[in-house]
Amino acid sequence: MLPVLAAATTHALAGVVLGTAVWALVPEAGMLPVLAAALGGLFPDFDLYAGHRKTLHFPVYFSALAVPAVAVAALNPTTTTLAVALFLAAAALHSASDVLGGGLELKPWLGTSERAVYDHWNGRWLAPKRLIRYDGAPEDLALTLAFAVPPVLVFDGLAETLVIAAVAVSGVYVLLRKPMVAIAETAVAAMPDHVVDLMPERFVRDFR
Ligand SMILES: [Zn+2]
Repeated sequence: MLPVLAAATTHALAGVVLGTAVWALVPEAGMLPVLAAALGGLFPDFDLYAGHRKTLHFPVYFSALAVPAVAVAALNPTTTTLAVALFLAAAALHSASDVLGGGLELKPWLGTSERAVYDHWNGRWLAPKRLIRYDGAPEDLALTLAFAVPPVLVFDGLAETLVIAAVAVSGVYVLLRKPMVAIAETAVAAMPDHVVDLMPERFVRDFR
């Protein structure tokens, strides 16, 4: 549950950086495109409970859709065309950049998984590059902080508050990332087998 929260704040703010740049160019389009960029950055991780980093992660297809959407928005920049283009661009950026982080295992800091994100186009898993060793690593927080700078400088009010809240969530997550797994391990070990059997395989596999 929690892993989606923190990786999500980094990805959402990466989208917001794109949205902020577009807002600076076309402020009359309003804040909806910026919101669409944040949602596009979040969107792929809604597959956390079902085929994580495969079901809604499309490093190739989101990019292929983003290119014409960006072209349309560039020729005819309206609130709608910019929102669509930013949603797709942020979702593409998220899907592609998951390769730069850790693998899918529950303790990604051990670096045992060779699965970062699924490439549907070539029908195979892409291996993690571990430039950011794992979601919730200190360098993940550093990236989140860097992404927060442009929108905090440019926006006031609710948008600024939401960005600061996302950074706060990331900060708490970095502190809890490893203890959380230890607590889950203890809990799974204490559960009777028939209860563990009811839990999704992905969540308990590494604990047994
Ligand atoms: Zn992801």
